[in-house]
Amino acid sequence: MDLTQITVTIAGAALIALNLWFFFGKKEAGHASAKEKGGLYACPMHPWITSNDPTADCSICGMKLVRSDEVGK
Ligand SMILES: [Zn+2]
Repeated sequence: MDLTQITVTIAGAALIALNLWFFFGKKEAGHASAKEKGGLYACPMHPWITSNDPTADCSICGMKLVRSDEVGK
């Protein structure tokens, strides 16, 4: 393997890492916009605990879930 091949390999690996970073960044943004749409219920103390069932309770603290668009207001 000469220096050119090593450089191309490193550049390729860097490009793949960059693509993964973009992919996961977009995934997080998509999650946030889905939350803004509403319809899901979330715990006010533990916003990552969500359910489509309005009568559901938080599995951590037992609080009644509220509409996720009202969490953080
Ligand atoms: Zn909770």
